[in-house]
Amino acid sequence: MSILVIAEYNAEMDLTSLRKSVKAAQLIGSNIDILLAGNDTSAFATAASHISGIHQVVVVEDSILSQPLAENHTLVIAKFSADYEHFIFAATSWGKNVAPRVAGTLNVAQFSDVIDIESADVFVRPIYAGNVIAKVKACCAKKVLTIRGTAFSEAELGDSAAEIKKVSLSDTNYSFDAGLSHFISEELSKSERPSITAASIIISGGRGMQNGANFSILERVADKLGAAIGASRAAVDAGFVSNDMQIGQTGKVVAPNLYIAVGISGAIQHLAGMKDSKIIVAINKDEEAPIFQIADYGLVGDLFDIMPELEAAL
Ligand code: FAD
Repeated sequence: MSILVIAEYNAEMDLTSLRKSVKAAQLIGSNIDILLAGNDTSAFATAASHISGIHQVVVVEDSILSQPLAENHTLVIAKFSADYEHFIFAATSWGKNVAPRVAGTLNVAQFSDVIDIESADVFVRPIYAGNVIAKVKACCAKKVLTIRGTAFSEAELGDSAAEIKKVSLSDTNYSFDAGLSHFISEELSKSERPSITAASIIISGGRGMQNGANFSILERVADKLGAAIGASRAAVDAGFVSNDMQIGQTGKVVAPNLYIAVGISGAIQHLAGMKDSKIIVAINKDEEAPIFQIADYGLVGDLFDIMPELEAAL
């Protein structure tokens, strides 16, 4: 059973989602390789080689691969299709972009957002915004999976390093430029706060915040707690905050130790992104708001009274 875990290169050397994908792969088998495609990736490859339980890091370098374009990266992964049975991606924006194209190329189904692995071909995944958990059995010889990071812990890092194997495909005149997409630019949002997906405390605001300026009320509390700031889709759609802060079915999926929902009603699409949080606190003036059904602690009241009190108490 050969398993290929696809790495998503990042200059920050953040191995979190890769280590979680390896952890998931270990539930399938022990013959695990990591594939790293990019340009100038040696530091990342070295870091990845210390993930315990992997056999080797396979590296493909080409200047065209420095951009995270799914069309081009799929051409690399397809080159290894005969050697592996499982192709595992983290369910990040990039993984969710590349994996379907790989599955299409291999002419197999994709198993999305896997939260548990029962065997080499039986996977567990949420459907209907997390209201139903489906157990699905793969029929195809090749399996393409995306892994929900909040459902798996990180594979250990060890002192010993796995082999790093550079594979050169240039001598075959093989081009990784699919010619289907072009990279124009990217804008990275910079923040002093922890990122939403890594934070152990998140404070999220909803439509009840009334406007973007009022998010400063959350920021003051977040500063005291070292928390990240999230938002509901209603808050994003209303233009209060940017959409990279959205949590939920069509936003980010998080599971921090503490999640504080402020002025958020608790629609199922929002719960889909945060209900696995360890402790959930809800602040809402409507005692019938659905968020109270999953909250460990609920405060019924006006957020514009409660949040300053909370800030003062902290
Ligand atoms: P509302 O539902 O309007 O709730 C506002 C809450 O604030 C109310 O409960 C109100 O009592 C409370 N409030 C108002 N004023 C105060 C005050 N002064 N003090 C205290 N409480 C106050 N939503 C997401 O969040 N994430 C998603 O990823 C997402 N994906 C979606 C995908 C699809 C396909 C669809 C159809 C919907 C999706 N939604 C998503 C939208 C979702 O259905 C809800 O519309 C949204 O979550 C509501 O956001 P909200 O709770 O901020 O707003």
